[in-house]
Amino acid sequence: MCLIPYSLSPLASWLFLLHGDAMKTPLDECMNLVELTEEFGTDDKCRRVLEQLRWPRGPMCPRCESKATKIANRFQYDCDSCHYQFSVTAGTIFHDSHLSLWKWFLATYLITESRKGMSSNQLKRMLKVTYKTAWYLTHRIRAAMLEVAPEKLDGTVEIPTSARMWK
Ligand SMILES: [Zn+2]
Repeated sequence: MCLIPYSLSPLASWLFLLHGDAMKTPLDECMNLVELTEEFGTDDKCRRVLEQLRWPRGPMCPRCESKATKIANRFQYDCDSCHYQFSVTAGTIFHDSHLSLWKWFLATYLITESRKGMSSNQLKRMLKVTYKTAWYLTHRIRAAMLEVAPEKLDGTVEIPTSARMWK
């Protein structure tokens, strides 16, 4: 059974990285779409970024905080102490999502960068995902933003009615 608490920290860090709000980063204050695609255009690149953000001193077990070892040919780690196996997305909003990581990153970018707010329908068209996925993304990402950077939510916040929710 997975007992990892739900945490937003990698996304939070990434948002800060993207916007340069709180941390000095080697990246420019604000990325454009071309730079974003170059930096985060594949799942591998996204995973590496998450690994660096989450474990600057090497992979660490989310259960017992011991050192962990990468499992060869898999995107998983094995705790040296309790042998719990986990991925870099464990305990984050990206966990258990069928959506590619790079689409999560792109969705985060689109939602945080759109001045007037981004509707689930817009996101659905732009990412070529179902409305259900787009709705889930907009709500999870907005919840994360509310936690780390509420001032970024100046735009229109879409409040879907239950009738529209899963179309
Ligand atoms: Zn452990």
